Amino acid sequence: MTDCLFCRIVRGEIPARKVYEDDLVVAFHDIQPAAPVHILLIPKLHIASMADLELSHEGLMGHLMVLASRIAREQGCTDGFRTIVNTGRVGLQEVYHLHVHIVGGPQPLPPML
Ligand code: IMP
Repeated sequence: MTDCLFCRIVRGEIPARKVYEDDLVVAFHDIQPAAPVHILLIPKLHIASMADLELSHEGLMGHLMVLASRIAREQGCTDGFRTIVNTGRVGLQEVYHLHVHIVGGPQPLPPML
């Protein structure tokens, strides 16, 4: 058991607007959307950040990325989208449970860097 915010969403202790769930992952709307489509896709397993990935996570992360593509298209991002994984202090990660931001909308997004 962990106090992690996203683990609590996984357990249903904090409400979230879920758009997808299976045995391994959950996807839900970001509480402060930065674009018309802004979904967070997370593994149910608590992995703090991308810096903590191990070879044993290979299958899980493959699953996550394939679903990111599918969820983006299901959310209407048929002409492209952006996936972002912020990692650690330098990456300005706020929530230390690995998550993929899926961001998009009808208009091209502003450049990132
Ligand atoms: P990070 O900077 O990549 O860690 O982004 C964390 C994201 O989680 C931010 O975009 C927040 O808006 C989002 N967030 C924080 N708390 C919640 C919540 O309770 N539900 C949904 N999204 C959240």
